[in-house]
Amino acid sequence: MKRLHGQCHCGAVRVEIEGVEAAELPLRACQCGFCRRHGALSTSHPDATITFMGGKLLHYRFGHRRSDYMICAQCGCYVGAAVEIDGARYAILNVTGVDLPGFEGRKPEPWVFDDETQEERARRRKARWSPADLTELQPSA
Ligand SMILES: [Zn+2]
Repeated sequence: MKRLHGQCHCGAVRVEIEGVEAAELPLRACQCGFCRRHGALSTSHPDATITFMGGKLLHYRFGHRRSDYMICAQCGCYVGAAVEIDGARYAILNVTGVDLPGFEGRKPEPWVFDDETQEERARRRKARWSPADLTELQPSA
C-alpha cells in the first residue's frame, strides 16, 4: 500500500503520505525538546508526497524559526512540520500524532540534530523530507 491516511484526535486535520510502501518509510525519534515532549515519531521520504487537509492548525516555530510545527487548534495533536526551501515546500508527519498505520512493531531510530548549521539543516531536509501539499490548509488565526 503506497498511500497511508491519518488524522488528529478530533479528526479535523487529515493527512496522507503517498508514493512509498509503509515498510520503506523511516521511523525517526527526533531528540529535540519539542519532539520529546510530544513523544513524536516522525516519517518522511523524498519519493513520497505528504498532504495536509482541512482543520485549523496552530503554527509553532522555535530554534532557527525556519519550520512550522503544526498543531490542531481543536484537539492539540502535533500532526507534522513543514518548511519552505528555495520556494518548495517539504514536510514530515508525526506518526504518533496522526495515528498513522503501517508502523506497528517498528523500532524508531533516534536522531539528534543539535550540531547542525542552518545550511546543513536545509540540505538534510531537502534530501529527506517529503514534498508537501499544503494548499488545502486553512491559515491559522
Ligand atoms: Zn484535532
